[in-house]
Amino acid sequence: MDESLKIMAVMCHPADAIDHAGGTLCLHAQRGDQVTMVVCTHGVDTHHTRRNELIKSGRLDQVSDLEEAIREKEEEALRGMEILGVRDVRFLRLKDDVVIQSRELIEAIAKELADVRPHLLILHNPTEELGFAHQETAEAALRACDLVKTSHYVQDAGDPVTPAQIFFITMYGHTNQLSAEGRRFANVLVDISPVVEKKARALDCVASQYYTGDLGRKCIEVTNGRMGLHSSVSYAEAYQVLNPHVYSHLPANEYLMRQASNSKSSRGESLQIRLGGSDRG
Ligand SMILES: [Zn+2]
Repeated sequence: MDESLKIMAVMCHPADAIDHAGGTLCLHAQRGDQVTMVVCTHGVDTHHTRRNELIKSGRLDQVSDLEEAIREKEEEALRGMEILGVRDVRFLRLKDDVVIQSRELIEAIAKELADVRPHLLILHNPTEELGFAHQETAEAALRACDLVKTSHYVQDAGDPVTPAQIFFITMYGHTNQLSAEGRRFANVLVDISPVVEKKARALDCVASQYYTGDLGRKCIEVTNGRMGLHSSVSYAEAYQVLNPHVYSHLPANEYLMRQASNSKSSRGESLQIRLGGSDRG
């Protein structure tokens, strides 16, 4: 498909889009697509690790006020997204201490959907652990997709209000028992190898969660490296599609064909470790 697309990612916490889909969003931005990131919560309650450590240790004189902490989280996300070439970042600023499928959250997401009318939507995976904020955000976004079809939102002009496809991020989530019993098996891989260094530099911006330096690179190596391993792709971001893809004939693409004809040695060459340790860590 040659025409440009509108891609929207609806994420729970400020760094989620970088961490989970940053390479994919970067590739779409490079392709000339319109990329929008929606961040539902400000993330300070649970994801400003440095600030929370100061509070817990009683060093209250060093703790930034809430507004300042929110700005810090947003600036990190904006800097990271800038590296990835994404400039349309929208913060809904809901609290993240308890994330539930509230009417407020659903309506806030619906408003952005109605405004952008994305062709493709990237969401967290609704099968992530029960009670985890990502799962609630994904389900709220699915409800928002229904809400924008109601008469309050639908207008006659412009692109269809319903995304053509929804891609659920396929991550480990927590590495615990609930996650092990999940149903997250990727059926779409995006080869992010050409932009993986940009993704690492974008994660360097998230100092409040200590992603800067080696931790971000380790996350990429064990997640995106593992996802691409059996497809001879150095680094891949993985998704499950909501709706079946429809074709006029059985699909095959350059990756499948190359993998089928790859020798073991060329497979080894294609699986390079491209991220060295960081001297910023
Ligand atoms: Zn998150």
